[in-house]
Amino acid sequence: MKVPLLDLKAQYRTIKTELDEALIRTAESQYFILGPEVEKLEKSICEYLNCKYAVGVSSGTDALLVALMAIGIKPGDEVIMPDYSFFATAGVVSRLNAKPVFIDSDIQTYNIDVSKIENRITSKTKAIIPVHLYGQSADMEEILKIAKKYNLKVIEDGAQAIGVQYKDGNYVGTIGDIGCFSFFPSKNLGCFGDGGIVTTNDEALFERLKVLRVHGSKPKYYHKFIGGNFRLDAIQAAVLNVKLPLLDSWSAKRRENAKLYTDLFIKNGLSSKSGVIEYTEKDKVLLPNAVYKENNLMNYHIFNQFIIRVEERDRLREFLTKNEIGNEIYYPVPFHKQECFGDVLKEYKYSNDEFIVSELASNETIALPIYPELTHEQIGFVVNTIKSFFN
Ligand SMILES: *Cc1c(COP(=O)(O)O)cnc(C)c1O
Repeated sequence: MKVPLLDLKAQYRTIKTELDEALIRTAESQYFILGPEVEKLEKSICEYLNCKYAVGVSSGTDALLVALMAIGIKPGDEVIMPDYSFFATAGVVSRLNAKPVFIDSDIQTYNIDVSKIENRITSKTKAIIPVHLYGQSADMEEILKIAKKYNLKVIEDGAQAIGVQYKDGNYVGTIGDIGCFSFFPSKNLGCFGDGGIVTTNDEALFERLKVLRVHGSKPKYYHKFIGGNFRLDAIQAAVLNVKLPLLDSWSAKRRENAKLYTDLFIKNGLSSKSGVIEYTEKDKVLLPNAVYKENNLMNYHIFNQFIIRVEERDRLREFLTKNEIGNEIYYPVPFHKQECFGDVLKEYKYSNDEFIVSELASNETIALPIYPELTHEQIGFVVNTIKSFFN
């Protein structure tokens, strides 16, 4: 049995008519950039996330970049973020000649370890970028507390977490000053190429974001500041307008799949329960701290990725690949070990154990297929294959 990591064709088949129609409608309109489809999407996203403003942009990376520009990040400013995330989170900070400051991860969620943030705040610190990694919220309550105390802006990287609700019921991306989302095809809400959106409840930031999206021009050809071409294509918005109403049902399926994995790993004697952080006789596979709130209808975790930890990760990876089971490592190299950040890191002294969790995550975690259209048989096959690996 073949189990791909992701099967976008399976999703396409279920809504082919509506999607094809949206593509043709856009072709017939010959309206390609921004315009009515993008405005419709921005309005729908505001309603869905319960926030005041949304600005469609060219990618999740550009969402982060334009957000940092909007809060006025300047060369030499410091921006705090987790050491363990997709490269874009850190890359955008460096592109503005500001300095990314890396914080170790929390072992339960792989999100930023909030207890280690304050140690790294200096007079140059201007913002924090929490990443809601794998589709689970960072500890926003504590992050907002720190931000308030030190007068920092909070830019949420929600690229993997659209539709995730924090414990107070608010959607991630609407809790800090600006929320950033990606519509890259493999995200929970993906378009037919690159796309993204920024959200905010602050009117002044909204106005700035809109102007920055079109080279900082307002009115046209008059530039008070320098922006970029961060515009979203109409064709992407048209696709997303078809998909957004289905997002919650897809997230629910992902959660169901995660629950099935958890049950099967436990039933097969590979794990004792979710959220265990130490290997034991009973815990060869460490399962995500999924916070399975039974009967809770909130989207506390949308499982953009289902991540397990195993000691012999690389050997397991080979075994899965040989058995035609899709898998991936998100991410093999934490920021503090990336060659491009060598110069940044020279300045701030860190001890050998400063990034102990992010290193462990990069060495021992692996993503298993979790997409909504996955069948129970496929999930069973993945667990059985992992069981036979341990035998
Ligand atoms: C995907 C991703 C991004 C970048 O989004 P793109 O649309 O690919 O530019 C940023 N941050 C995180 C955490 C991501 O997963």
